[in-house]
Amino acid sequence: MEKENRFYITTAIDYPSGKPHIGHAYEKIIADVIARWQRKRSREVFFLTGTDEHGQKIERYAANADKSPQEFANEMTEKFLDLCQVLNVSNDDFIRTTQKRHIDVAQTIFKKVFDKGDIYKDTYKGFYCVDCESFYLERDLTDGNCLVHGKKVDWMEEEGYFFRMSKYQQKILDHIKANDDFIWPESRRNEVISRLQEPLRDLNVSRSNFTWGIPLPNDKGQVIYVWFDALINYVSGAGYPDSERFKRFWPAAVHLVGKDILWFHTVVWPAILMAADIELPQSVCVHGFINLKGEKISKSTGSMVDPIELAKKYGTDSLRYFLMREISFGEDGNFSEDALIRRINSDLANDLGNLVHRTLTMIEKYFQGSVPEIKTDKLKCIKAYVLAAGLTEAVDKEISVYNFSQALAKIWEAINAANKLVEETKPWNLSKEGKIDELGVFIFVMSYVIDKVRENIDCFMPQTAVKIVQQFQPGKIKKDKPLFPRIQDDKLN
Ligand SMILES: [Zn+2]
Repeated sequence: MEKENRFYITTAIDYPSGKPHIGHAYEKIIADVIARWQRKRSREVFFLTGTDEHGQKIERYAANADKSPQEFANEMTEKFLDLCQVLNVSNDDFIRTTQKRHIDVAQTIFKKVFDKGDIYKDTYKGFYCVDCESFYLERDLTDGNCLVHGKKVDWMEEEGYFFRMSKYQQKILDHIKANDDFIWPESRRNEVISRLQEPLRDLNVSRSNFTWGIPLPNDKGQVIYVWFDALINYVSGAGYPDSERFKRFWPAAVHLVGKDILWFHTVVWPAILMAADIELPQSVCVHGFINLKGEKISKSTGSMVDPIELAKKYGTDSLRYFLMREISFGEDGNFSEDALIRRINSDLANDLGNLVHRTLTMIEKYFQGSVPEIKTDKLKCIKAYVLAAGLTEAVDKEISVYNFSQALAKIWEAINAANKLVEETKPWNLSKEGKIDELGVFIFVMSYVIDKVRENIDCFMPQTAVKIVQQFQPGKIKKDKPLFPRIQDDKLN
């Protein structure tokens, strides 16, 4: 999965036609967990995210808002930058497709493919959906409407430039078949293989009916198709072709994307790279959608769950934990504020927060604030100790196959075992009976479990891990208020 000791991970770049919604937050958090985990394993990581700012849709939204497309894109992109900061996303760079560094590379690659003869000029007639920025055949539509947007498509005839995708069809299929890891999960891989049984149509990679885009290097009357432009961010953001960073990190280890853009990343992008003589990425990992009340997020419902507001209201780590725990990676999941509150109160306040707080209290009460040194050969009989001792290995195993929810479940097994140990041991009795050695073993195990939990939640909940370290200073603890205050839940549905 890695290029020697280096690891390059990308999210898809976001289309800033509106404010970020919970789906954008979800993708960034997954990528961040992977990036932090790889750094923990001493990989040198390059983590890229950004915004895809061209296209007719942005041009139209900007016009409606009485702004220039660039002003509009600047304003919206600001919100995506805020999102990264509020979610504590550790991206190393943020690429914007309106930056010169990107425009230059997009034109260079377009020209390279054109000079090679893989882009040619032709006339195109077809139905066009502005929201998809795509052409459709009549059979792709229902009652003249785009299937994705349910909106009327326009009939368009234009002279344009076409990318000879058909030339690469067999090569792409061979590559996918020869590389099990190229598309994850397997169901998505099978989906692409099956679609590749049908002949590939060449792709119209230029537009002349609007101007908000990167001009073609060879024909200034047209702009580069927004997808051809956007995909190139993965190499322009790393500094293609000559930067030290590009040479160190390309090919990317993981492109993390949503299932709606599977085709662009596993067929169109490889075809562009092949035509431009650039190595293919190692894998495309596909996550599911987050639904609200069982339905896909739309423009109107998306704004009701603003991830920036949620993180401010409930805490960044609580939101990160919820999304990674509640949803099985690769599948669709549901978001509701009620479910978030339940997780915070049970898993975070009751289980983890309580474990840390009660242990600190007992260290203060029974051992004057420092964890005792102990001598015993009986630790292996204590379930909480055994779970904690094997925790890093168990969690690594789950994360390496993207079972994030399972990884967190393993961590919570150790937390729950430690909380159960308190009930079983009844330390208050040991104290009364003066059984100080037994009490010492007990406190040692509790602290040990917390330390292993801290080590393993670090990539999921980095701020919480830091707070735990601050309270468990070597030698002397520094008890603070509980990590997760309970949320009043009497208003839950
Ligand atoms: Zn559409």
